[in-house]
Amino acid sequence: MKNIIFLAVQGAGKGTFAKKLKEKYHYAHISTGDILRERAAVEDELGTKIKNMIDNGIFVPNDIIYEAIEYKITQPECEKGYILDGFPRNLEQAKGYDEILNKLGKELGVVINLTIPNELLKQRIIGRRICRDCGAIYNIYNDEFKPKVDGVCDKCGGKLYQREDDNEEAMNTRVKTYFEVTEPIIDYYKEKGVLKTVDSSSNPETVFKEIEKILESDDVNN
Ligand SMILES: [Zn+2]
Repeated sequence: MKNIIFLAVQGAGKGTFAKKLKEKYHYAHISTGDILRERAAVEDELGTKIKNMIDNGIFVPNDIIYEAIEYKITQPECEKGYILDGFPRNLEQAKGYDEILNKLGKELGVVINLTIPNELLKQRIIGRRICRDCGAIYNIYNDEFKPKVDGVCDKCGGKLYQREDDNEEAMNTRVKTYFEVTEPIIDYYKEKGVLKTVDSSSNPETVFKEIEKILESDDVNN
């Protein structure tokens, strides 16, 4: 299967689809934080270096992130394909990743840009309510996910609360930051002809089918 770089604003459902791809096609899910922690656990020179940085809260430089990525994508669990989540984070990293792939003779695969209309994102985030006792998640703007009784968990009767950063102002800031950082990467991959945009506003099954269609088609230049 094609490797995937997953780009999406928080709340667009990236986690849901990454999980489905993992379950159905055995993709490895790679996030930078996870692989750095994983690499830090290997008792060699690089592992020790990364561990020291993480333990001391030092920002891990790109060349070390690249080494960790290179290590990870050559492991057996990535043979069936992998999803990069949260990497590349900027244009410099996108170019660095190209160099890694060139060196390994691997293909980039496809970049899936998951989009969501702002109004719907707002509903998903601002309507979110969480049970204080069991952690069940509801949405007061969605009939399917609304609690039967306002403010009360269907499952355990616990009280529902809204997370502090699930408000419009915090959401707008997150969205703005996301686009500032991601726009150049989107343009970069668009020019390469590997970018596929998927609108995640329909129901998850439909969106997932669309993602599967992209993975099965050959019209993406590798
Ligand atoms: Zn509950």
